[in-house]
Amino acid sequence: MEEAEKIIDENRQGEALMLPTNVTGNKKMYLESYGCQMNFADSEIVASILTEGGFTTTKDFNEADVIFVNTCAIRDNAEQRVRTRLTDFRKAKKKNPDLIIGVLGCMAERLKDKFLDEEKIVDIVVGPDAYRDLPNLIFKVEGGQKAVNVILSKEETYADITPVRLDTNGVNAFISIMRGCDNMCSFCVVPFTRGRERSRDPESIVAEAKDLFAKGYREITLLGQNVDSYIYAGGGLKKEILTEEQRTSATTFAQLLEMVAQINPDLRIRYSTSNPRDMTDDVLHVMAKYENICKNIHLPVQSGSSRILEAMNRGYTREFYQERILAIRKILPDCGISSDIITGFCTETEEDHQQTLSLMEWADYDFSFMFAYSERPNTLAERKFDDDIPEEIKKRRIAEVIALQQKLSERKTKTHLNRIHRVLIERTSKRSDEMWSGRNSQNIVVVFPKGNFKPGEYADVFVDKCTATTLIGRVIS
Ligand code: SAM
Repeated sequence: MEEAEKIIDENRQGEALMLPTNVTGNKKMYLESYGCQMNFADSEIVASILTEGGFTTTKDFNEADVIFVNTCAIRDNAEQRVRTRLTDFRKAKKKNPDLIIGVLGCMAERLKDKFLDEEKIVDIVVGPDAYRDLPNLIFKVEGGQKAVNVILSKEETYADITPVRLDTNGVNAFISIMRGCDNMCSFCVVPFTRGRERSRDPESIVAEAKDLFAKGYREITLLGQNVDSYIYAGGGLKKEILTEEQRTSATTFAQLLEMVAQINPDLRIRYSTSNPRDMTDDVLHVMAKYENICKNIHLPVQSGSSRILEAMNRGYTREFYQERILAIRKILPDCGISSDIITGFCTETEEDHQQTLSLMEWADYDFSFMFAYSERPNTLAERKFDDDIPEEIKKRRIAEVIALQQKLSERKTKTHLNRIHRVLIERTSKRSDEMWSGRNSQNIVVVFPKGNFKPGEYADVFVDKCTATTLIGRVIS
């Protein structure tokens, strides 16, 4: 299935990332990534740091000097996946005892040095704020020790590191604009694994976007756990931006978006993720002003019940969320809207579940990521509530949510028929070598016969056919 951009792209899980073939080095790393887009973007920072240290990449872990797994801790099954994967690496280490195995990212941060006790083959444990230390840690392991750095930082944004673009089509790239999260949603492990919220210098973001555009990239996605909360007042933690003077002179997300949109009208901008409690109308007005800011907002609701939203500590009610959707529909009438939904959160009744279904129907989402609640150690929910919804009820509810979303998505896709869509060409379609695949502004995949076009070019495509999730058409310009 050709999918639109995702928070957690199932097709990319466990992908071994490769540097361009012109990068050489005397040591080989195998770098495998799991989880959200931010993790994949972090792997590009890791690759940048390690190429400086003389590494190149391999797609075969059996020929690697170092194996790194960039891990996710968001749900228990994400962690189980990594544990299973480590058993594959155990065989490689038996054959080559000098092989170094490192775990990076959120699961490393969550487990810290316990990882070394639980998984004897692991040599290095590194949290998301400590990647600059990787060359030292490798050096330490080469000297016969184990190495751990899970220090979370108040300052680190890797602003000065130009990520090496891995497995790129040369068209789409991610730029991290902030790190960490202060929201403390009760279900979520992110504040514990990625630390407190801090925003990156806007000038460094604009410089990176300009550089990407000059290299031929035509779409960038600005990434953060809660992009609407972006605020830069000279560096440091968001919670330390306290004075009126700091606030008035700070750069907000709406301002950053405008700065990036002004780089070139041929550079498309997307962003992810928005949090309803922080999404302001000024962002929507900037989106309306610039055609090159894609008309698509990922606005996770999590639940349609105000009582559950309160237990989740989301900071908004069903009515507040609906008001935000109405603002989007008014200011950006053609905007695609997608969501994240959790079923079976602690104390969720059948009535709460029905409210989630009715809100999905009301919001008429183009797309949703849907998850059964997975209790995470040390989160507020784990400390405060019982994980009291039986697995079979969680499963039944998630099945109902998925079935409804499929119906909504199919209906939504059809509303794009018999219209012209501006499509940024990304790659050859998985359906046919004769077709290009790209996306329209609303983030829906469009495929069409190749003609004389190339990836990175825009085409105006008249769409007259569709499947459940893909538009099919022909170029009219
Ligand atoms: N920061 C974003 C937000 O707050 O909306 C996204 C966070 S997370 C990387 C992506 C999604 O994973 C969340 O929106 C939520 O739906 C889901 N998620 C997070 N923790 C979860 C948990 N403990 N169980 C099930 N799903 C979870």
